[in-house]
Amino acid sequence: MATKQEEQQGRHQEVGHKSLLQSDALYQYILETSVYPREPECMKELREITAKHPWNIMTTSADEGQFLNMLLKLIGAKKTMEIGVYTGYSLLATALALPEDGTILAMDVNRENYELGLPVIQKAGVAQKIDFREGPAMPVLDQLLEDKSNHGSFDFVFVDADKDNYINYHKRLIDLVKIGGVIGYDNTLWNGSVVAPPDAPLRKYVRYYRDFVLELNKALAADPRVEICQLPVGDGITLCRRVA
Ligand code: SAM
Ligand code: CA
Repeated sequence: MATKQEEQQGRHQEVGHKSLLQSDALYQYILETSVYPREPECMKELREITAKHPWNIMTTSADEGQFLNMLLKLIGAKKTMEIGVYTGYSLLATALALPEDGTILAMDVNRENYELGLPVIQKAGVAQKIDFREGPAMPVLDQLLEDKSNHGSFDFVFVDADKDNYINYHKRLIDLVKIGGVIGYDNTLWNGSVVAPPDAPLRKYVRYYRDFVLELNKALAADPRVEICQLPVGDGITLCRRVA
């Protein structure tokens, strides 16, 4: 039988794990008690389609989708942006939360995966809120910044793409989000690797992005233009509320 220490070390080692909670059973309890019973049918369908895709590890977890949906309603978001769409689970959670005239500027280098989820988004009747741009997000942000009317205009931005660019995104997004608006940076606990010892056996890509995540977390904590709150939802999400 494994000792308590062995058990703890063994937990959550897999990259695919969607929670940093104390135990798998506790996470399962949350999903089964509060998340799945309230998950809209369309989100369930999209989650099931995504589960069959080889890169499904990238999808937003159902509990985080529920959180995003609630957050957007709480802040009354209308004009939003998403960087990193994949098959669209967080995008659908956002689209469902926005009012009829709400908008999402959604960016991803890969259109194919977005199109996998698109029929579900269309069936849910929210596709008209989405302006999908295929390609890297950075040039789009730079283009937006050229027009002063875009400055301070976004209520909410969800960043869930190339972690090595988060700091560069932040430099631009801080001017695009309004004062009082929120930027959510996803995966800021990076599979728990932010506290892994230097010689820990990490998967190659986890190791590669870890330093960028560590750097981002420090930079956000030191940025007086935002108030922050790092939540252990999913793989960690840091909410930044622009205050200056
Ligand atoms: N939010 C998505 C969801 O709920 O399923 C998951 C996004 S997935 C973790 C990261 C996505 O970022 C991938 O689909 C990838 O193609 C995209 N991506 C990577 N680099 C990018 C870039 N420079 N600009 C825009 N998207 C990028
Ligand atoms: Ca993510």
